[in-house]
Amino acid sequence: MRDCIFCKIIEGFVPCMKIYEDEHTYSFMDIAKDVDGHILVVPKIHKKNILDCDEETLINLMRTVKRISNHLVDNCGYDGVNILNASDESAGQSVPHFHIHIIPRRKNDGIDAWPKFEGAKEEITEIWEKIKL
Ligand code: 5GP
Ligand code: ZN
Repeated sequence: MRDCIFCKIIEGFVPCMKIYEDEHTYSFMDIAKDVDGHILVVPKIHKKNILDCDEETLINLMRTVKRISNHLVDNCGYDGVNILNASDESAGQSVPHFHIHIIPRRKNDGIDAWPKFEGAKEEITEIWEKIKL
């Protein structure tokens, strides 16, 4: 078996608090204890992140992200969600199996889920010229 903690969770070799499962995706509580209700959603197939993920896997993953998000708001008393992802170590990815974080949100819950950026160093127009498709 692949030496991947999320593959081991999906295959039942490592316990988790499962939220949801279907043919293509798996979802469980994050154990970080950093914010209430922190959920992870992963594809069952091992992909590292969005960069190596095929479109069909991505669509299946996002379908589950939406299903869980709507469930949180419709049935669990939440008002919204933050959807977070780090793709590559450069972006802060620590577990190399593609995963989307869902943070359930309530009005005035005091959670600041937006990173504290240090301020842009380059001209927007210069970067725009380099990166536009
Ligand atoms: P990343 O930093 O790659 O975006 O997020 C990885 C997440 O996986 C972290 O929030 C971390 O708490 C979570 N995590 C790491 N190991 C385990 C584990 O064994 N079980 C669960 N449920 N979550 C884990
Ligand atoms: Zn894996």
